[in-house]
Amino acid sequence: MAVYSGILDIANNEQSLAALMGHEIAHAVARHGSERASQELILDLGTMAVEKLLIGRPLSDDSRKLYNYFTTLGVMLPFSRNHESEADYLGLVFMHFAGYDMNEAYKMWDRMDKLNSNNRTPEFLSTHPSSRTRIENIKKWIPLVKQNY
Ligand SMILES: [Zn+2]
Repeated sequence: MAVYSGILDIANNEQSLAALMGHEIAHAVARHGSERASQELILDLGTMAVEKLLIGRPLSDDSRKLYNYFTTLGVMLPFSRNHESEADYLGLVFMHFAGYDMNEAYKMWDRMDKLNSNNRTPEFLSTHPSSRTRIENIKKWIPLVKQNY
């Protein structure tokens, strides 16, 4: 449970929880196989949050359709394939679709960056090192996502 209390320090309101979930959902739908822990995190945080964030209504059981949908989105990703960048970008798209403020995404990573430097390290952090590059990329992509979606 330490992992989750650590996460809730970072994702401390609905908007930033949406940012975190968007990132995690992106890993799952893009089938980032090495992100096992992340997929377990999704399951633990619950289907309800996924449904709310993704499309504002319950998911259908047709996961293939969903997968195809996001694979199509993936074609438009504005960078060479990298799991973390991909999840960051797709996460912004999901947030935007769901009506959340995308600015919360880089604020969330910024909090994670600070938490890391305080030497309190939830397991999530070990696979998700925050960095200025990550934060700068997200700031750069926000207008792009607004424009494209
Ligand atoms: Zn990630």
